[in-house]
Amino acid sequence: MQTYDVVVIGAGAMGSAAARALAAAGREVLVLEQYELGHDRGGSHGGTRLFRLAINDEAELLRAARSRELWHELESETGVQMLDLVGGVDHGIGEQQVRESAALLERHGVQYDLLTPEAATERWPGMRFDGAVLYQPGSGRALAEQALTAIRESARALGVEFRAQCAATAVRVVGDGVEVETAAGVVRAGQVVVTAGPWTGQVLAGALEVPAISASQEQPRFFAPLDPAAEWPIFVDRRAATPAYGLFEEGHGVKVGLHATGPVISLDQRDFQVEPGRDAALIAYVREWFPGLDVTRSEAISCLYDNTERGDFVIDRRGPISVAAGFHGEGFKFVPLVARYLTELVTGSGSVPDVFRL
Ligand SMILES: Cc1cc2nc3c(=O)[nH]c(=O)nc-3n(C[C@H](O)[C@H](O)[C@H](O)COP(=O)(O)OP(=O)(O)OC[C@H]3O[C@@H](n4cnc5c(N)ncnc54)[C@H](O)[C@@H]3O)c2cc1C
Repeated sequence: MQTYDVVVIGAGAMGSAAARALAAAGREVLVLEQYELGHDRGGSHGGTRLFRLAINDEAELLRAARSRELWHELESETGVQMLDLVGGVDHGIGEQQVRESAALLERHGVQYDLLTPEAATERWPGMRFDGAVLYQPGSGRALAEQALTAIRESARALGVEFRAQCAATAVRVVGDGVEVETAAGVVRAGQVVVTAGPWTGQVLAGALEVPAISASQEQPRFFAPLDPAAEWPIFVDRRAATPAYGLFEEGHGVKVGLHATGPVISLDQRDFQVEPGRDAALIAYVREWFPGLDVTRSEAISCLYDNTERGDFVIDRRGPISVAAGFHGEGFKFVPLVARYLTELVTGSGSVPDVFRL
């Protein structure tokens, strides 16, 4: 029976980054992934993600700021660009919120500009604005695919073993360690880190009670810009009950999505199909607010959010089992920070914010 210091279950963004960080901390690490590395069935595929500092949550702002530092560390360690800070806008927010957000950003020395709708429209003619616009030059795009490829390569160079197409079928605590069952046999380890996204509950059944994590099948779209040379910030529009978000991605166009509006699905009934009603709402939104996008030329994306009822991430350790899941479509910006939290939990050198605890 093979033995490792740590087995990581799930090679999405969180598992891959955690494996690298654990190997850098001197641990012998095996990563099990049920599909091929880089597959498109979870929550981590695709070229880009928004990276931004929160404008209405101090703790989250500070976490994102810390994560940006760690992203830059990863960039210098791997020599690969992972963040592209093109700047970002928040709009569709009331006057009071604008004032509170400006005060929050000021309190933490975060650069920002308050733009009139006219000034913003002049700068980004592909978008329409009807109120104050909060612009952050320090936000932008996480180059997701490029970053994850570099993180996995660097992890391998640090000795991490990735075993793709090898699902973990059960986790058992045995003595002061764990056994992980796979179709290819049982693996023993001192500890296990479960970063299995919406599958987390299934993986830990019988081994550790975790909050219910549901999967929603999100369906943003890439829209073709009418002017290929137009500039685009990353954007969040908060006028509707759930924010609209998006950014530009080379080769695809401008991604626009209605956050956390996808249908809740059971994982074995995933159909990768867009739900027509929600799709029509997205297209109507783009038609109204993006004069620079061609709603007749677009491509749908299918991607999973892992959601907890309490709406917070779940990051904690019990005995030899650590878990990180429940990122509800907002986890990518925090990848190196979550990897740091998991490494501190495994090595006993630190803890996680109470809000994430089991
Ligand atoms: C459409 C969309 C847009 C997003 N936009 C943003 C954004 O702009 N900014 C941002 O910060 N975040 C964003 N996110 C969220 C972010 O991408 C996710 O939070 C993050 O990628 C989750 O990573 P993960 O590793 O936890 O999950 P996943 O990528 O889902 O990884 C879990 C892995 O575990 C594997 N697995 C499951 N069960 C087993 C098993 N039994 N054995 C072995 N392997 C198993 C799965 O196959 C999968 O590879 C977005 C997400 C989506 C879907």
